[in-house]
This record gives sequence, structure tokens and C-alpha cells, in this order.
Amino acid sequence: MNNGLEASKLEPEMTRAAGTPCERLRAVEARMARAANAAGRTAETVRLLAVSKTFGAAAVRDMAACGQREFGESYLQEALDKQGQLADLPLVWHFIGPIQSNKTRAIAENFSWVHGVDRLKVAERLSVQRPAGLPPLQVCIELNVSGEASKGGVSAAGLPALADAVSNLPGLQLRGLMAIPAPTVDTRAQRVAFRRVREALDDLIVRGHALDTLSMGMSADLEAAIQEGATIVRIGTALFGERTRKHA
Ligand SMILES: *Cc1c(COP(=O)(O)O)cnc(C)c1O
Repeated sequence: MNNGLEASKLEPEMTRAAGTPCERLRAVEARMARAANAAGRTAETVRLLAVSKTFGAAAVRDMAACGQREFGESYLQEALDKQGQLADLPLVWHFIGPIQSNKTRAIAENFSWVHGVDRLKVAERLSVQRPAGLPPLQVCIELNVSGEASKGGVSAAGLPALADAVSNLPGLQLRGLMAIPAPTVDTRAQRVAFRRVREALDDLIVRGHALDTLSMGMSADLEAAIQEGATIVRIGTALFGERTRKHA
């Protein structure tokens, strides 16, 4: 899609995405199905979360028209604006960004899932602030799998205690783990990191937690993630194109 300067001014975020939205969605689904097959899994065991951050409501609407229902957002105000514009659609919204304590109420009120829980204070606030009329907020704890101090996520050492505490909060349902390993093109290194997340989930299950979700894998490493057991892949670039700005 190269309509020159005028088009790139109107929709800068779409200029590098090849194909129509439905073609891109089908291509990602095909990648997921191939990866699942290669891992001896059925395609239905892996869900696609379309990461629409920085893209406008129109791009989400286009993707929804292709059959995509679940969307992930990282920036609260941007997400709330989009939800308002798309309230006529039966979409399921996941908050996947870093969570500031002063934003927990709006997250608890407006999302079905939260993937980046990494400390108890935030979990407690989300639980208390989850409206009583809604089902519990579906939660993944973010595991800091690459051990980078600057990144979000609980350490492997801190995970069991956090999982025990989160699973006791009435407004939340702990579903599993989320991770964002350090990016690498080395597929073996990708798999090592994802395997650690899966092993951490298995450890929690052995400790008595009923968990079914591994949220891991993005546009560049979804195959490795599925190979290692991902049940939700979070895909932005491969669906919507390169992000050319931070916020919509
Ligand atoms: C942006 C983002 C993604 C999507 O990444 P792509 O490489 O564009 O597929 C997935 N997960 C999280 C937490 C993100 O912030």
C-alpha cells in the first residue's frame, strides 16, 4: 500500500502493512496453525490477541469485520477512547501495558483481561475496584523471564508468593502467566525463554493453582512461543503494520 505522501499523512501507521486487514489476519492465523501443528497441538488451543495499540478505532473495526474479537491495548486513555468509538461491537478487551496504581480503577472497570500484573498492591486495587456486576477480572501475572532489572514482571523467586496472594483476591481470577522475553532472532534462545515461562506455570499448577493460560509470543516469535505451549499470542505488527508513533 503506497499511495505516496498524502496517504501516509492520513494513515501513517498503515503504510507498511501488506495486504488487506483480512488477508493479514488470515496470514497470522495460518502461521499460528502451522506452529500448532508442528508442536502436535490443534489450532484451537492457541488464541489470537490482536494488539491494536497506536492504531485507531477504524483499524480495529476493520479487523473486527474480518472476525477478530479479542484486542489488546497498552495505553489506558487511548484504549478508553477506542472502546467508546467501538461500543457497538462485541469485542473483548485485554489490558497488556504496564499498570500504574492510579490507573487501576479504569482498568478494572473497562477490561475483561489484564496481562501485566506483577505486584500485589496493583492486584489488590484491581480486585477491590472490579465492579460487582462483572465477572472477575481475568489475570495473568507477568514473569520477568529474561531477568532484566529495567523490565516489568515479577522475578521467578517472587512468583509463587504473588500467585498465592493473587489467587485469593475475590475480584480476580488468576489464569496464568504472561512474559515478554528480551527480543532475539535466535529461535533457540526464544524457545529457552518461553520454556522457562511454561515451566514456571507447571510449577504453579503442581503447587495447586488451576491455571490454563500462557500469554507469550509476538509477531517476531509466535512460532517459538506456540512450540513451548503458548495459549494466547499477542500480535500487533503482523496484523496492523509497523507502529510509527507511540500513541493513537
Ligand atoms: C506491542 C506489544 C505486543 C505486540 O508486539 P508486535 O511485535 O507488534 O507483535 C505484544 N505484547 C505486548 C505486551 C506489547 O506491548
